[in-house]
Amino acid sequence: MNEVERLRVLEQYGILDTPHEEPFERIAALARLIFETPIVLISLVDDRRQWFKTNIGLDLRETPREQAFCNETIRSDDVLVISDAEHDIRTARNPLVTGNPHIRFYAGAPLVTPEKARLGSLCVIDREPRRFDDRQKAILQSLAGLVMKEMELRRQTDHDWLTGATSRPAFQATADRLVERNEPPSIGLISFDIDHFKQVNDRYGHLAGDRVLIDVVAACRTVLRDCDVISRLGGEEFAVLLPGATSESALAIAERLRQAIAASRHAEIEGSVTASFGVTMLQASDEGLADALSRADEALYRSKAAGRNCVTCSWKQPDQIPAGNRFAGSGI
Ligand code: GH3
Ligand code: MG
Ligand code: MG
Repeated sequence: MNEVERLRVLEQYGILDTPHEEPFERIAALARLIFETPIVLISLVDDRRQWFKTNIGLDLRETPREQAFCNETIRSDDVLVISDAEHDIRTARNPLVTGNPHIRFYAGAPLVTPEKARLGSLCVIDREPRRFDDRQKAILQSLAGLVMKEMELRRQTDHDWLTGATSRPAFQATADRLVERNEPPSIGLISFDIDHFKQVNDRYGHLAGDRVLIDVVAACRTVLRDCDVISRLGGEEFAVLLPGATSESALAIAERLRQAIAASRHAEIEGSVTASFGVTMLQASDEGLADALSRADEALYRSKAAGRNCVTCSWKQPDQIPAGNRFAGSGI
């Protein structure tokens, strides 16, 4: 599998930059008990860094990809063992060996997805040289298999299998939690729908359409903050929760999302796709997320009616918005 495909699969898991989670902590703790190493990591390798889902014994959440031992591990399905990193030509000059955390021993088992993408590794690390026999390799590989199973489960329940965006139930749960705690007090909601998407499928095939959906979510992630939540509500319809947004910032973010999607290019199709947007703010009088979503959808349909590839909000726009601006107010 080539690197572009591998990164696409990684994106679908929606796991990068998420908090620690118990199942992964437990597996790592078990590895620590079994192998008695001070450091156990669950590392995922993206285009520029290795990011740690779990980092027992190491006060770092990521390192540059060039320094990652795991970068070597993901080249094969086998466990990589470096018994003494100081005396191994591959690692002797690595800053993680010459400096903090002074790695001497490393054993990493790749995390291999059902579609054979190697996303990262489960690794055990010591500051002393060590030997690692075949039985230990087999145990580490089994534990890596458990990590992968957990990642798979996580992908299926909380995330849309195709794009890695938050699933509808998880999106609803997040909204409920934010509203219940009233924290932050001001929350924006954007809904958007890809324009003329049926034509993309008709012209280039369903698989190309699927790839475009993955790209659209990836483009949106470049605009959104870690605390924002993007969900695929169904088909080619998406929604974004913006905790702490004001009406002005929600509108501005929707416009940036619109631009990011329109500027994206896709390997399988000519030109670009665009999307139409609706923006609203969650209100104390809402019975639930459904009320806010229907307000956002109403605004979205106005964007469709206004010619698509534009942003409409659910409240009246002040007069100072310059003429010719794509934002169109609809009144609540
Ligand atoms: P509009 O601008 O009015 O939204 O036009 P549209 O063509 O996007 O809307 P329409 O509702 O007519 O068609 C939506 C299309 O989205 C039809 C369906 O085949 C496609 N679609 C829905 N889910 C998926 C998916 O998971 N993968 C792919 N490839 N296509 C999908
Ligand atoms: Mg559409
Ligand atoms: Mg639609």
